[in-house]
Amino acid sequence: MKFSTKSIRIGNEPNLKEGGSGDVVVPIHLSTTFARRKVGEPTGGYEYSRSGNPTRDALEKNLAVLENGKYAFTFSSGLAAITIVFMLLKKGDHVLSIDDVYGGTRRLFVNVFKEFGVDFSFVPFCCAGDLDSEIKSNTRMIWMETPTNPLLKIIDLKSVCKLALRRKIISVVDNTFATPCFQNPLDLGADIVVHSMTKYLGGHSDSVAGAVIVKAEKLAQKVKYLQNAVGAILSPFDSYQILKGIKTLSLRMKKHEENAKEVVRFLLRQKKVKTIYYPGLSSHPGYNIAKSQMTGFGAIISFELKGDISAAVRFLESLKIISIAESLGAVESLIEHPATMTHSSVPESERSKIGISNTLIRLSVGIEDVNDLIGDIKQALY
Ligand SMILES: *Cc1c(COP(=O)(O)O)cnc(C)c1O
Repeated sequence: MKFSTKSIRIGNEPNLKEGGSGDVVVPIHLSTTFARRKVGEPTGGYEYSRSGNPTRDALEKNLAVLENGKYAFTFSSGLAAITIVFMLLKKGDHVLSIDDVYGGTRRLFVNVFKEFGVDFSFVPFCCAGDLDSEIKSNTRMIWMETPTNPLLKIIDLKSVCKLALRRKIISVVDNTFATPCFQNPLDLGADIVVHSMTKYLGGHSDSVAGAVIVKAEKLAQKVKYLQNAVGAILSPFDSYQILKGIKTLSLRMKKHEENAKEVVRFLLRQKKVKTIYYPGLSSHPGYNIAKSQMTGFGAIISFELKGDISAAVRFLESLKIISIAESLGAVESLIEHPATMTHSSVPESERSKIGISNTLIRLSVGIEDVNDLIGDIKQALY
């Protein structure tokens, strides 16, 4: 089965068994508990909704297949999913993370897990060659995002995951930006994939959700145990919402990317635009790696305007169609100012070290008519 067929069919199979209702859409199972015929065994395989729920199971089955994994687990947010992955660590362990990591992930590392005795370093890296000297004897996990947020840096997943395997380090990829439609990190050697499904997978800005997907059974057992023990599960209603969103993922991603490429072409011609970060530009340092490991470049564009912070603010506040908002990956275009919004929790000294300047703007290109989007950007620039 091809991707778009899988995204619509897997987990959504109608129940055509005797007594089954044949719904073509997975029902929202709200029951918190499941009655049994016999004391010692659950009748339909379900006991209590935190441990397992049929709507959530349908979504998890779908996600496992879309990422070419074997097991998927869903959570009440992307950060809840990330928390569960960190809980695989113990006191004294060290995590090596890409420096340009999602702001909320960095906050969780530094302000929460550091308190529990886990150590982190943030380094810029692209390939295995950049990492050898950074690995310590207690490094247990390598944390990657590619493309990164907000600078769209690209990591060579094959080479870094190979190094991680050789050094017995768990490799984790936050695949939120690329989605399984454009990139499958498990195929490139990653142990764990995480998603904020709040973004492209849901795609409509109406559900907060996260996922962890793995191939190895041992790892899956640990994550499953933590999912139930910690309890930050995805609700049946949100599971339904995400299942529904995923059905149009490949259609949306195609249009998102098509629009993004048009917007980039427009921005390239504008004198007021200083730098454009988009992995689909042949001048982007990660272009060749992106081309080899992704089937699409995505639809997040970051760019810097000439002038100071007031020029960036004036531009953002002059937009009439594109909304100023955090988040990304939905049908509507969203634009934001990392320095004062998504990355305001990163200290300014750290921000400038990474390259997040005060005039940097991040645009999540939606699937509106691209001429309307370009017209809006144009009138706000001039
Ligand atoms: C939004 C986001 C997260 C956090 O997900 P939530 O669903 O907001 O908790 C993690 N990683 C990336 C790359 C994100 O964009």
